[in-house]
Amino acid sequence: MKLGRFIIDTHVHAQRHAAGPEFKKLGIAVPEKMKYRDLSNIMPHLTAYDNSKRLLYDMECYDVDMCVLLPAFGMSNDINMALVEKYPDKFVAVCAPKKTAERALAGEIEWTIEAACQELDELLSTGKFVGLGEGMPTTPEGRTSGKTLGHSERMDQLRKVMDVARKHKVPVRVHTGSPMGYPIAYTYWPENWHPYWMNDLAVEYPDVPIIYDHGGMQGGNQENLVNECIQVAANHDNVYLETGLYWTELYYKALVNPNVGPEKLLWGTDWGASIPTHTHIGAHPQTYAMQVRKDGIVTHQVDVMGWSLKQVSRLDISQDDMNLILGGNALRIYKIPFPLSRMFKPVE
Ligand SMILES: [Zn+2]
Repeated sequence: MKLGRFIIDTHVHAQRHAAGPEFKKLGIAVPEKMKYRDLSNIMPHLTAYDNSKRLLYDMECYDVDMCVLLPAFGMSNDINMALVEKYPDKFVAVCAPKKTAERALAGEIEWTIEAACQELDELLSTGKFVGLGEGMPTTPEGRTSGKTLGHSERMDQLRKVMDVARKHKVPVRVHTGSPMGYPIAYTYWPENWHPYWMNDLAVEYPDVPIIYDHGGMQGGNQENLVNECIQVAANHDNVYLETGLYWTELYYKALVNPNVGPEKLLWGTDWGASIPTHTHIGAHPQTYAMQVRKDGIVTHQVDVMGWSLKQVSRLDISQDDMNLILGGNALRIYKIPFPLSRMFKPVE
């Protein structure tokens, strides 16, 4: 049975990196020898290709009606845009300042938040993107710069991004969590490790929806970032949790808080991110997303939609609440047209 009236996966990567040839250059040909750390180093330089055939297969398999396409780590806005144009009823896309990052990596310019925001402004002015993401724009050299970005400095960068989002009336996404394989450096995304920082932006920009990518859980089984994300979502009307890598009990943890509830949750899986599901028999949770570094990188298309929908299916809540989590909230927040009115519980 289909789990909801209209199902939107709000966190999807429809592109895949062609890593094999780059690994061969490093003298690595066997997948087990390919390490996440090496992959994260070469990823910004890799070519991304359209992986929509596999995505469309999974969408049909699991009755997923629509996806929000996210660029990340070298994935292109152009490929996502072409997919939106080809399948307007199946895809919408958010954008990231990729050209600024590429030019900075090539040594042509110094990365600045102003240049990134100008590119975002131009991308959003086309009217073809419904928001910003994945995560907030950041310097591509942030992982290896040898400098630690301060709190105030980063917050001032984020304010400039919020100004662009406000101008175009679109949601932003703030990354939280770690897949545990690819290292997420503090200075790359300081807010990733400090969800509480969003309290200030939520107050200063009450008109801009803030969505936590992964709602604090991208990999592993530590719940500290989830707890912080829930706290912030509970404190502000404009803060939302994307939940696709939550196991069932984490949904309940958010749902039990009356200031969060089903109207604040958006289902989204990180489809295409190559994070395997780890099975830990006898532990609780027994399964969760996690890259295990000693196993090397995962080479098949991980079935995260299947795993995630199984977690959601265990929720004993009203179908109307389920419909908000699985699609209704995304329709509202991303302003995606739906052919019928009154199909989703109204949310103020
Ligand atoms: Zn992602």
